[in-house]
Amino acid sequence: MLDNATVESLIARYNSPVPRYTSYPTALEFVPLADAALLDSYRKCEPGRPISVYIHLPFCENLCLYCGCNVLLSRKLEVLDEYIPLLLKELEVKTNIMEFKPRVSQLHFGGGTPNFLRLSDWNAIFAKLRERFEFTADAEISVELDPMYLPEGYLAHLRSLGMGRVSFGVQDVTPQVLEAVNRPQDISRIKAVVAESRALGYSSVNIDLIYGLPHQTLDSYRANLDFIADIRPDRIALFSYAHVPWLKHHQRRMDEKALTSPTEKLKIYLAARAHFLSVGYEQIGMDHFGLEDDSLTRAFREKTLHRNFMGYTTQKTLDMLAFGTSAIGFVSGVYMQNHLKLSGYRSAIETGKNWFEKGYIMSAEDRLRHEVITSLMANFSVNFEAIGREFSIPFAEHFAPEIARLAEFAQDGHGILSDQGFEATETGGFIIRHIASVFDAYRKGSEQKAFSKAI
Ligand code: SF4
Repeated sequence: MLDNATVESLIARYNSPVPRYTSYPTALEFVPLADAALLDSYRKCEPGRPISVYIHLPFCENLCLYCGCNVLLSRKLEVLDEYIPLLLKELEVKTNIMEFKPRVSQLHFGGGTPNFLRLSDWNAIFAKLRERFEFTADAEISVELDPMYLPEGYLAHLRSLGMGRVSFGVQDVTPQVLEAVNRPQDISRIKAVVAESRALGYSSVNIDLIYGLPHQTLDSYRANLDFIADIRPDRIALFSYAHVPWLKHHQRRMDEKALTSPTEKLKIYLAARAHFLSVGYEQIGMDHFGLEDDSLTRAFREKTLHRNFMGYTTQKTLDMLAFGTSAIGFVSGVYMQNHLKLSGYRSAIETGKNWFEKGYIMSAEDRLRHEVITSLMANFSVNFEAIGREFSIPFAEHFAPEIARLAEFAQDGHGILSDQGFEATETGGFIIRHIASVFDAYRKGSEQKAFSKAI
């Protein structure tokens, strides 16, 4: 456990905005992208290589004030009568570009609230997916669900369609915190839903928590730790609240004065981390924890973890085909983001033109830097020799200025630098976004308002 002086000095020096590197280059570099990128990148997909599929289901009935997702608010289920047919058409048109049936090893449904959908919508989506894709025998099929909107039979139905992993957004269990962020929840209901998931045979149950919300204190956070000990999920995602009211205007409705201070925030994180480790979890990357035999836990331990828009993954830079409003795909080195607004999304699908909000075509140098940054973000280390070999470059020469900056981090006790590579220490793990940013060729220091603070 870090002492108070170390906590204060990390905050004083490193609590500044820096990317989370779910992509490299970051979305800030994305530019308008011509439709030709769709054909070019999809046609380069190799038939034998498994791919990943992401489907964005953007609807929510209620707006949580901390929300950072791309959401469409609606209380009317009729919006699905328009959205689902558009989504099915998008699946059809885009997979038609490939002259083979792609093999899927990962399928994830995110949102929004995916369980806003009716069961008939899920039937239609899965029928289309099984028509357009082949699934590998061990394909991971996962979904994010709001545990408060699950009518009887809903979880069982998703399970019967092939869903194997489920992630429940809980965020906090304290009534005062939940009220301040406009997210009413009944904790006994969440426990029942987790128990039902297990009984139905979901192989992995993940719980999302957020620290840094209004009214959270080191003391109040204890309730969340007890809740976790009680239900013992397979994985825990412990996210740092990103307060960016200039980007997400609804966050202004939160009482800023009640927000947790940076020092209290880091202490909550440290206490939660210590607690999870003491009850049998291992740390995975920056903000996840898993039981010892979990596949991500093993990958982090063995330094083979990877990272993409869906978060941590055991599978290296799979092409990711993404569908639905705002969804970002990554195919053959091209990032492609669908339109954020329903009107733009509808128009693209109806006309077959102007497909993207924006995107980015990676250069060879981008791919190299992406590999280094991903390795640091996912495994807290980078092996110079392995990456040099993979990209046929003399790593030490190519990255001489960057290695000099790693040496400064090492001198401050945040890492161990050798000729073979760099490995973050415990304090280095807290500031890994800063360490990874050393390899970001696009950081200018002027994009202060584009990213959340590092701690
Ligand atoms: S349920 Fe999730 S996506 Fe919907 S508003 Fe709340 S945080 Fe955002």
